[in-house]
Amino acid sequence: MVGVKIIGHDDVYECALIVDLFYDKTAYQVITDSEVTEHFEHIIENEYIEIPTGMRLETRILDDKGHVTYVSQREMTEQFEDVFERRAILKRLNKVTLYEALSSLMPSKSKWGTLVGIRPVKIVHEFLDKGESLDRVRAYLKELMVSEEKIDLVTDIALRERPFVENEAMEGLSLYISIPFCPTRCHYCSFPSNDLTKKGKHIPEYLDHLLYEVEAIVDYLNTKGKYFDCVYIGGGTPSVLTAEQMDHLLKGLRDRIDFSKVIEFTFEAGRPDMVSYDKLEVLKAQGVTRICLNPQTFNDRTLVQVGRAHTADEFCEAFCKAKEFDFESVNFDLILGLADESLEEMKESIDRAILLEPENITVHTLAVKRASQINEFNESHLIGEKNTVEEAIAYMYDEMAVAGYVPYYMYRQKNMVGNLENVGFCKEGKEAVYNIRMMEERHTIVALGAGAVSKIVFPKENRFERHASPKGLEVYLDNHKDYLEKHMIALKSKFGD
Ligand code: SF4
Repeated sequence: MVGVKIIGHDDVYECALIVDLFYDKTAYQVITDSEVTEHFEHIIENEYIEIPTGMRLETRILDDKGHVTYVSQREMTEQFEDVFERRAILKRLNKVTLYEALSSLMPSKSKWGTLVGIRPVKIVHEFLDKGESLDRVRAYLKELMVSEEKIDLVTDIALRERPFVENEAMEGLSLYISIPFCPTRCHYCSFPSNDLTKKGKHIPEYLDHLLYEVEAIVDYLNTKGKYFDCVYIGGGTPSVLTAEQMDHLLKGLRDRIDFSKVIEFTFEAGRPDMVSYDKLEVLKAQGVTRICLNPQTFNDRTLVQVGRAHTADEFCEAFCKAKEFDFESVNFDLILGLADESLEEMKESIDRAILLEPENITVHTLAVKRASQINEFNESHLIGEKNTVEEAIAYMYDEMAVAGYVPYYMYRQKNMVGNLENVGFCKEGKEAVYNIRMMEERHTIVALGAGAVSKIVFPKENRFERHASPKGLEVYLDNHKDYLEKHMIALKSKFGD
């Protein structure tokens, strides 16, 4: 057992985030000054110390006899008028001393250094916005203990994203439409989704409400000279809609939105068991440019274990059908770290996805979310083993590069197996604009429907506001006009009355 003693400050939460990268929660204890410390194998003392020139951040490792065996220090001597900026820098430097000291005891579980709860690519963009060189960004990330491999990844991705997050690329807005219905619930899922068999009867009413909201918002945005140039229909599983319902929704959107300005129109077809020729015909006829078809894994045993009602072969059949319609892009989602998949099985999924040559492949590492069945019912047998997933990820990066796929966006989540990352790959020139916008949070996204969350961005203030619609389907149906009104107020706070 290791004791962590916090002295002279109260950033316990931030310190625990770093200690978690080295020890399981059961292997350490945060202790106070007065606690008996004899029974600890090591004591880690983390202290803020006032010095004449500013503040010293120090982490000391003590052995079981109380002898100091390692010291890590940083000093902050600059003066800041902004107290929040000062606090942020102190915390950042403190995390580095803690990370450095703990690294003297054992290797970290993460290659991302002290970057926890921060989107790494955003940091690179912030430096590039200020005209800083790539060398300066790299040096900064190194100070934060990020590995060379991950520094290469984030800088490559940021450079690839630049044309999509600058200047005129920032003019249009994105529209997200949520279709929160699914045929069955996957065990790892934390999205708001409603059982089609029980709640499917509400779909016609739900679509009408959505179109009503779109009309009101587009009418308002028109008065401000604003427009949507990116439309994304996600879920849930939007392909649970019948071909007629799809047609009604997509036609309704086309009637209300000026599609001459839309550069990307994505429909998450999602599960192959919901895809049919007549639905694909509707998508093509209504101008969808990009569809997502998600195998998650090509292992039939895993598909059953996680509650997917299709096989790998059925996925391939659905993909072949979709290919006949010649969409500009097809995306596959894969999840590594599902169930007890072996390294060979994960490699097979990667190989089979690459062999089919979709334009986009997004590779997720399983993240255990609070709202998922895996968490709720403690289904830990459905979580892959960290080292195996790490090896699969290394294989995935190599094979993607050989097959001509480049990473174009990424994000990290809490509780990911192996503290890894989710990465979107694309064939050259096939970046999905919406995904980049969603991750970099520089671009306003208006999200409509139950459980949808808008992000209203205020770039000059370097911040965004979230506006959430209720997750519950019935609450949304009964109160959507009230929520629309609140949504309008949120939009007006950015674009004016
Ligand atoms: S299909 Fe997607 S949204 Fe539906 S339950 Fe599975 S993971 Fe969740």
